[in-house]
Amino acid sequence: MDAGPAESPSPQPSRANGNINLGPSVNPNARPTDFDFLKIIGKGTYGKVLLAKRKSDGAFYAVKVLQKKSILKKKEQSHIMVERNVLLKNVQHPFLVGLHYSFQTPEKLYFVLDYVNGGELFFHLQRERRFLEPRARFYAAEVASAIGYLHSLNIIYRDLKPENILLDCQGHVVLTDFGLCKEGVEPEETTSTFCGTPEYLAPEVLRNEPYDRAVDWWCLGAVLYEMLHGLLEIKNHVFFSPINWDDLYHKRLTPPFNPNVAGPADLKHFDPEFTQEAVSKSIGCTPDTVASSSGASSAFLGFSYGPEDDDVLDC
Ligand code: ATP
Ligand code: MG
Repeated sequence: MDAGPAESPSPQPSRANGNINLGPSVNPNARPTDFDFLKIIGKGTYGKVLLAKRKSDGAFYAVKVLQKKSILKKKEQSHIMVERNVLLKNVQHPFLVGLHYSFQTPEKLYFVLDYVNGGELFFHLQRERRFLEPRARFYAAEVASAIGYLHSLNIIYRDLKPENILLDCQGHVVLTDFGLCKEGVEPEETTSTFCGTPEYLAPEVLRNEPYDRAVDWWCLGAVLYEMLHGLLEIKNHVFFSPINWDDLYHKRLTPPFNPNVAGPADLKHFDPEFTQEAVSKSIGCTPDTVASSSGASSAFLGFSYGPEDDDVLDC
């Protein structure tokens, strides 16, 4: 998710004849018919990721196919080029997904990537709720190694979350999705585009302040917390351990305080400042008087709502 305006591109992708210049990763001889596209294995903002088998040698790849039209419509060329630039550098690191090559047709861009089939960390975490400390530490350490490498290249990752952390067939971490990376950020340098994924945003990003590469360590902390404590977080916290959530939902727990009201007309718990004020006549007027096609009423068409059995309103 990119929650904010795109930053100035680096480098600016050149476009001629509707083509996007994909630079040195381009394989000019490659074409979609080189592959059998077998399954959709992921979906992103601008396209799909497919499991593909190359016809010439039977090799399996994950091919990320992006629609040029939707990229250009949202003026996101620069993010795609950053993703390509970072992917090119990834081959040097064991925990970053590798790009084999890229090519394009008039409508689409194709990234031919390592096929990583151990599943998203998100998928495993959802199934198992949380991991024991040694397992969480192992994943966090491999992610930290990948993030540290990106930082050493002056790249901030900015979108660390369990959906972007894949496991390979042996269970090692493979970080994917470099569309929100920021290149060329020196160690103490800051940047300011508001982007990322809401649950993992660092406080300085949320406050719309300039931020540096430390935002990635904040995200790693959030992911580590999620791995150790599970997605429900709050309900499992030791503070709530005496609460039976099912009993709570069914109102089987006796409230610790009874307001002791005598009936509906007992207003003793409302502020006299309000209850002593006269009720304006316009509030109780008939619908005919207020319904009109004026801007004010047409702005909220469909606002009125009533449960099918409106006896509920009789209290
Ligand atoms: P978004 O920006 O919405 O997060 P995106 O368009 O950048 O998505 P990716 O995150 O790169 O797309 O890919 C979407 C999903 O596809 C990933 O979460 C993952 O499940 C799957 N996927 C991506 N790359 C690979 C890969 N190399 N091997 C296997 N699965 C992959
Ligand atoms: Mg993603």
